[in-house]
Amino acid sequence: MFDYLIVGAGFAGSVLAERLATRSNKKVLIIDKRPHIAGNAFDHYNEEGVLVHKYGPHIFHTNSKDVFDYLSQFTEWRSYEHRVLASVDGQLVPMPINLDTINKLYGLNLTSFELEDWFESVAEQVPVIRTSEDVVVSKVGRELYEKFFRNYTRKQWGMDPSELDKSVTSRVPTRTNRDNRYFTDTYQAMPLNGFTAMFEKMLAHPNIKIMLNTDYKEIIDVIPFKEMIFTGPVDEYFDYKFGKLPYRSLDFKHETLNTETFLPTAVVNYPNEHAYTRITEFKYLTGQKHPKTSVVYEYPQADGDPYYPVPRPENAELYNKYKKLADQTPNVHFVGRLATYKYYNMDQVVAQALTLYKKLTEKTEEDKAIAEIEKIVIKGKSLNGSAIKISSKNGNH
Ligand code: FAD
Ligand code: UDP
Repeated sequence: MFDYLIVGAGFAGSVLAERLATRSNKKVLIIDKRPHIAGNAFDHYNEEGVLVHKYGPHIFHTNSKDVFDYLSQFTEWRSYEHRVLASVDGQLVPMPINLDTINKLYGLNLTSFELEDWFESVAEQVPVIRTSEDVVVSKVGRELYEKFFRNYTRKQWGMDPSELDKSVTSRVPTRTNRDNRYFTDTYQAMPLNGFTAMFEKMLAHPNIKIMLNTDYKEIIDVIPFKEMIFTGPVDEYFDYKFGKLPYRSLDFKHETLNTETFLPTAVVNYPNEHAYTRITEFKYLTGQKHPKTSVVYEYPQADGDPYYPVPRPENAELYNKYKKLADQTPNVHFVGRLATYKYYNMDQVVAQALTLYKKLTEKTEEDKAIAEIEKIVIKGKSLNGSAIKISSKNGNH
């Protein structure tokens, strides 16, 4: 009998498998319907020997020392700061928008101070910032919004920024200095030998059994287990009882080219041209030296594998119905980007999984304490014949 069945071998599932096996001595079966571990962070050497990310570019960044220290047990790191250019008005300019973006785009020579005033002069007054349009027009005005955000967002999400929660475009800052890094987190690094190698180390423990190419529905009635950790789509778990939660998908077109480099930087965004949103050249991310180079084009899709929860109020409302049900489902724990319907980065999922682990062990500690009390009480009962009722927060007793 397994203590835990973990559905999904991405960050959420693998962190929990590792903690439960190594720290709590639990017997864990982790399964994935895909033929590999590492979930969407899966990377591999392609036919030409170039290390690529199968499900699009994954760049690790976090402000959490705890998350970074935790993952550092399973990998060495390669320092890497991510830089992106956007193709706008026939030029490649830094994205996020910064001082150089504006000077290059408009042929100006502004200083940082002057740019602050310039942004103020073009920004729109928005009394309450609610949507992804509000966020951008209130900072940089309508023209830059249209050049950099409106069409990219329409392509990526299949809807206008005015229909999406402010959290989506808030991911991309605006700067008045010349900092051209995509992220400013304290820790920015890539696993030295790739993500998959890191996951292999996490899961290499005698208490952990791995089963791939398996949907949990195929084994749920066959393999006995005590508790389940579910990291797939929460609406699928409940058979779409309240209707489908919208997820945005992507089609990844991978190419290997007979040239050492292809792009001037790791990623080029195309807000206004092409059906794809961005091209990524992996060698910038991985630091690999190779005479050839591999790139991926991302084509947003309505249907396909669920990659992005879609942040907007009606979806949050629908998710809350599923969450209520999830909270009432005994011995099943929902965690990760799909199971909690959150547009989370990798580090946020690791943090969420570590928090769940803590909760599960606190529960175990409480269970142990109650078992001890039960023993004493039962002994007591046999001595004086009077029963004492015991209750627990978990309702298990
Ligand atoms: P997943 O990695 O999706 O793992 C869930 C697993 O569950 C999957 O492997 C799936 O096959 C399995 N599963 C689902 N249903 C079942 C079932 N019924 N039976 C068995 N198995 C099942 N984050 C960053 O921090 N930096 C980035 O640069 C970044 N770039 C991204 C780029 C793209 C294109 C995408 C889509 C995401 C990106 N992310 C990035 C986010 C990152 O992928 C997620 O935060 C992280 O992978 C989520 O981990 P997870 O374990 O919650 O989910
Ligand atoms: N975005 C945009 N133009 C860009 C980059 C981003 O409009 O050049 C918007 C778009 O809506 C995108 C969101 O900002 O989905 C978040 O961008 P991020 O790069 O964080 O997306 P991810 O890497 O998660 O796909």
